[in-house]
Amino acid sequence: MRIALAGNPNSGKTTLFNAITGKIEHVGNWPGVTVAKKEGDVKRDLRPSGERTRVIDLPGAYSISPFTSEESITSAFVTNADADVIINIVDATNLNRSLMFTTQLLEQGLPVVVALNKVDLLHKRGIEIDEKKLSEKLGCRVVKTSSIKKQGLRELMEVALSVKGTEQKAPITLRNVDPADKAEFEVAEKERFTYVDRIVNEVESRITESRKQTKHDSIDRVVAHKFWGIPIFAAIIFAVFSISQTYVGPVLADTLGGWIDSFYGYADGLMGESVAPILRTLLLDGIIGGVGAVVGFLPLIMVLFFLLALLEDSGYMARVAIVMDRHLKKVGLSGKSIIPMVIGTGCAIPGVMATRTIRDDRQRRTTAMLTPFMPCGAKLPVIALFAGVFFEDAAWVGTSMYFVAIAIIIFGALIVQRITKEGYSRSYFIMELPEYRWPSLKRALVMMMSRAKAYIVKASTIILLSNVVVQIMQSYTWSFTLVEEGMQGSSILAGIASPFALLLVPLGFGAWQLAAAAITGFIAKENVVGTLAVVYSISNFIDPEEFELIAGANDVAAVMGLTSVAALSYLVFNLFTPPCFAAIGAMNAEMESRKWLWAGVGFQLGMGYTVSYFVYQIGTLITTGGFGAAAFPGLIAVGVYFGILIYLMRRNESEVSMSMGGAA
Ligand code: GDP
Repeated sequence: MRIALAGNPNSGKTTLFNAITGKIEHVGNWPGVTVAKKEGDVKRDLRPSGERTRVIDLPGAYSISPFTSEESITSAFVTNADADVIINIVDATNLNRSLMFTTQLLEQGLPVVVALNKVDLLHKRGIEIDEKKLSEKLGCRVVKTSSIKKQGLRELMEVALSVKGTEQKAPITLRNVDPADKAEFEVAEKERFTYVDRIVNEVESRITESRKQTKHDSIDRVVAHKFWGIPIFAAIIFAVFSISQTYVGPVLADTLGGWIDSFYGYADGLMGESVAPILRTLLLDGIIGGVGAVVGFLPLIMVLFFLLALLEDSGYMARVAIVMDRHLKKVGLSGKSIIPMVIGTGCAIPGVMATRTIRDDRQRRTTAMLTPFMPCGAKLPVIALFAGVFFEDAAWVGTSMYFVAIAIIIFGALIVQRITKEGYSRSYFIMELPEYRWPSLKRALVMMMSRAKAYIVKASTIILLSNVVVQIMQSYTWSFTLVEEGMQGSSILAGIASPFALLLVPLGFGAWQLAAAAITGFIAKENVVGTLAVVYSISNFIDPEEFELIAGANDVAAVMGLTSVAALSYLVFNLFTPPCFAAIGAMNAEMESRKWLWAGVGFQLGMGYTVSYFVYQIGTLITTGGFGAAAFPGLIAVGVYFGILIYLMRRNESEVSMSMGGAA
């Protein structure tokens, strides 16, 4: 027998799948975790007839109409009748939304059993559900389950076996609408919504909130508050950066840095004078120094990821999403846009890929374009480097980068909304809030270790390779002779980076070394750290003594020749210009439009340049009383960028009024 599990994201499908098959698939306290289908055999003690029973866990879906790629897996599976029975997992605490999907499943003709899941939460939430009545209304069997407490599983399997081969009747059949016809589709969706609402009213009773207020709600009243939500989030992120960047992280990083330094010394001694100088530089400065500089930040980043994992696991991040959601909806994005952005704080690539769950093309593309602005894991060492070298490990540096990102995202969405002239699209998507719970140290550790592993793998592959190339380009001139001492400007690297450096003068950093690091940053953002280490021959950014040695003075900034304002501007530039190539590739895949891709990358480039320009020029004005270098040419560049944005917004306006005039 073949049983398919179908249900909304976060309904507990994976947990149920694990409970009945005995497997251990990743369970995330976040909607949208299951994206591919999984299969397994039902455990022996849960098979009512002893017959081998295969379970197929389909990706979470909100709808049978294939709007998103996960939904298309689910809908293809269900419409092809590839199973004997469908078990529809319904989140009992979120009946309305779940039944939207159930009613669609019932129209497919395959026998359906509803697993009314998470019933262990009902009492706590003051909810009562009459499952007999629900079963009558829907015309299918309903079994109460708790996949987490492993309750009702055997009964569920027995009922599934008993309905095998029967015919499923639909409680309502809506007109067959073409999902591409937006207006008609919305009407049908509304009809279904009303129908489901009626059923829920009949089968569910909720003890009114005023009488039974759960702890959960009172926490939400504070952290998801309209005004307080954002300051609270800022305070929490500040605390996270304080711990990881200011207190715990540097202590650990110092230890690791010491090891890397000893290794450097050991390798140096081992090679002795027998190795050719160019090979020596390549090995010591290019590989050990460059990779070591990136790896040196690992402890800081591990602490940060650990804390973020705790926050996610506790259910807090979902509240942040709710707070942000309000603002994003106003600028024409859907509630679903927030999920890619939160995922993007780990890495922009899965973040951009998560936009696949957004059905509206414009919203999906806009989200894919804006998600990479979130500071991802690869940007953290860059933040840590600049906060450490120029701002005494201050936590406000990292924190403010998150908020600059959010501001840019809101601004960007607003611009796209104005350019495309689309208003707010109504959607019945309601993001569910997971339960608050004590975060598990084990889960956070596992998550931290997997990130750490990915970081090391990246440092020892892409970053290592980039450093070798940078080191070689820095060591040779265009005529392939070794660069002479003190003639670094004649190297291939300097030759390539210098023209770009010229464009960056208005931003406060016109040195070719800095331009080179920003360019290699497009391959992977950690390269900014690696390349800076190579071009300035610094192997340890965490140890301030090293700067004294190189700069010959107790002034770390002298090494890079940057004021702190210029350093902040450089950081902003690296963080908010386009992401790495891999993320741009992901944008390309999800946007499915060359025009959008180029526009998106252009927007990112212009935005990074503009913010960086203002940080440097206004910062310099405040600190010195005069503008920084090349303020006027920079203003022209920024002016051209805004000119293009305004032109695009206007052009559309006239097109709209023309086409409306034509219709009249
Ligand atoms: P999926 O996205 O549908 O695969 O859902 P998951 O299996 O990943 O579960 C989503 C969240 O709901 C996780 O935090 C689970 O721990 C939780 N969960 C799943 N089943 C139950 C249940 O029966 N009771 C309770 N209280 N929580 C559950």
